[in-house]
Amino acid sequence: MSRPEITTDQTYDVVGLGFGPSNMALATAIHEHNRVAGRGLRLKALFLDRASEPGWHKNLLFEDASMQVAFAKDLSSFRNPTSELTFMNFLHTQGRMEDFFNRGSMAPLRIEFVAYLRWAAERLSEYVRYSSEVVRVVPRTSGGRITGYEVDVADESGVRTVAARHVVLAGGLQPVFPAGVRSGARVWHSAEFLERVAVLDTAAVRCVAVIGGGQSAAEVIEQMYHRCPQAQIHSVISRFGLIPSDASAYANRIFDPMAVDELYAADPQVRQELTEAHRNTNNSVVNPNTIAALYDLEYRDKWLGAERLNWHRAARVNSVREDYGTPAVQLGLAEGLGDGSGTLEADVAIFATGYRALDPTTLLGSHAGMLVRDELGRPTTRRDYSAHTVLPDDSKLFLVGQTEHQHGISATLLSNVAVRAGEILESILAADPAATQPTAHRKAHA
Ligand SMILES: Cc1cc2nc3c(=O)[nH]c(=O)nc-3n(C[C@H](O)[C@H](O)[C@H](O)COP(=O)(O)OP(=O)(O)OC[C@H]3O[C@@H](n4cnc5c(N)ncnc54)[C@H](O)[C@@H]3O)c2cc1C
Repeated sequence: MSRPEITTDQTYDVVGLGFGPSNMALATAIHEHNRVAGRGLRLKALFLDRASEPGWHKNLLFEDASMQVAFAKDLSSFRNPTSELTFMNFLHTQGRMEDFFNRGSMAPLRIEFVAYLRWAAERLSEYVRYSSEVVRVVPRTSGGRITGYEVDVADESGVRTVAARHVVLAGGLQPVFPAGVRSGARVWHSAEFLERVAVLDTAAVRCVAVIGGGQSAAEVIEQMYHRCPQAQIHSVISRFGLIPSDASAYANRIFDPMAVDELYAADPQVRQELTEAHRNTNNSVVNPNTIAALYDLEYRDKWLGAERLNWHRAARVNSVREDYGTPAVQLGLAEGLGDGSGTLEADVAIFATGYRALDPTTLLGSHAGMLVRDELGRPTTRRDYSAHTVLPDDSKLFLVGQTEHQHGISATLLSNVAVRAGEILESILAADPAATQPTAHRKAHA
């Protein structure tokens, strides 16, 4: 894949942190704009990703796992169905359309989705540099206004500073452990799963603890069940049982672009209540097929008299002890049902305890005070995802994937990446009216 050189003597119109689906969708919209924009109106954009190559949640890419979203929620379809970078066009170019539709599912396999992202990244390669970590973002000011940003990029040749008119932070989700728990030789987060399990002597494992009750936890339980045939698998969940995800039609509307408008405009309390009421569309819930597969394993094992799945319900881990050199990790469990508290000694404890959105505070360092925050300390944004700043801003800092508290539950998901990219591009172009002209970046129905 070709790699654009970093220009340090010129200002980019847009610099993006991250090249996951969110910023890939933006690069797609920019690419389509640039194709039809007149000379001088094209946007000079650079996206930086610390990963060495295109990918997507590589440690949870199980070969038979499916996406939790329909194929058309891709990088461009909902913004511009005629885009070259739709999932449909990917299938078409691979000669796989018939196979896909004969399968009768709207949800691609995860490995298929990653193949699509790689294919799209190849076509967007003029905009992206991999192995390039953004380590600092600093606002430039003039006359009491924010007029640009300096972005420090670390790569194999050191740290360089690039100048940007607008910056889009789309760094995705960061794994979260419960307070006091840290990653260790025998304590993993599910986000590390495949690279950790690859070096585990799975045949020797006798006891696995999986903490959490969401999709990742259920998948990790299933994986460890099959990979460690001698092991008892202990699931530690806060509920009575796994809760199925709600993918029904009316609930799904909460992911629609129109819902983003409604939720953004809503009273914060209403928005919060709706987000909590519909969390079971996405968070801490499990696809019914995965639940059925687990239950079938347990059911069969009962008949065989060889049960290996153990449920610690209404339970939480209240201590984790991993002594260097010992072959086990000790988990202190508090259980609301059954035998109550106790200690579980496991060969490995895998925390599938979720993620949190990127926090721009670290990147901004001593400039973090430029962000306007709500009463809970969260940065607030405009409808176009640009941060409210203490100083008036001619240059915008877009916080993508970090605004569930304002844009609703789809903020961290794929559902709206295409439409959101169009909105961000529109906002960037509006900041420089000369560049505004009708192009394919707008929503198809607008
Ligand atoms: C296992 C798993 C499965 C999921 N499945 C679905 C699903 O089926 N449907 C759905 O809608 N959502 C799903 N999600 C939610 C997920 O957040 C989105 O699918 C999607 O990845 C969001 O895209 P993004 O570009 O915002 O973030 P990411 O895909 O996380 O991309 C962020 C990128 O930023 C880069 N980065 C981070 N920090 C820096 C830095 N300082 N400098 C440079 N680069 C940096 C990272 O390397 C990464 O490439 C899933 C999440 C997980 C963990």
